[in-house]
Amino acid sequence: MAGLFHALKRGVKAAAASPDTKRYRAGGIAISCPHCQNDTFEKGAAQLNTAVATFLNLDWLNKSATILACLKCGRIQWFAGDVDRAP
Ligand SMILES: [Zn+2]
Repeated sequence: MAGLFHALKRGVKAAAASPDTKRYRAGGIAISCPHCQNDTFEKGAAQLNTAVATFLNLDWLNKSATILACLKCGRIQWFAGDVDRAP
């Protein structure tokens, strides 16, 4: 698990340097950060190996998930399906 979080932390740092504004929606609702209310994220996909999926009790997820990392505070949100790019 330490390797996973290290990789995610690296990804968030790389994303924070990007000038792109990235807003997303899930289920037709705009996504905002529950910690800082920021609405821009770096999107990533996580392929969950069996051990990680089982640890997180996510075996039903088909072993992949969408990750949104807040570009302001770095909080990471996980979505079982894909998210839509907001217009
Ligand atoms: Zn945030």
